[in-house]
Amino acid sequence: MLPEPANCPLCGAAAERIRSSQLRGFRYTCPSCGSFGIESAALAGLIASASTRQDLARLRAFGHLPLIQRDKQGIRVGPCRV
Ligand SMILES: [Zn+2]
Repeated sequence: MLPEPANCPLCGAAAERIRSSQLRGFRYTCPSCGSFGIESAALAGLIASASTRQDLARLRAFGHLPLIQRDKQGIRVGPCRV
């Protein structure tokens, strides 16, 4: 499947995304935020806080692909396990 142009849901920059059934959403590659996964459920109405982007940077520093999910508490960022 080919990447498609899309604005980054975190910072709004021109980015690319590719649909991923494993992630149940998309994998984005943003020039500013880097690569991360996001579930479709989290993408709808996402308001990314500064802490969300800090979590992404921290996970990437440890060599993980960050995955953004939504649960009952709200937006959660964790390491992608697929
Ligand atoms: Zn971005």
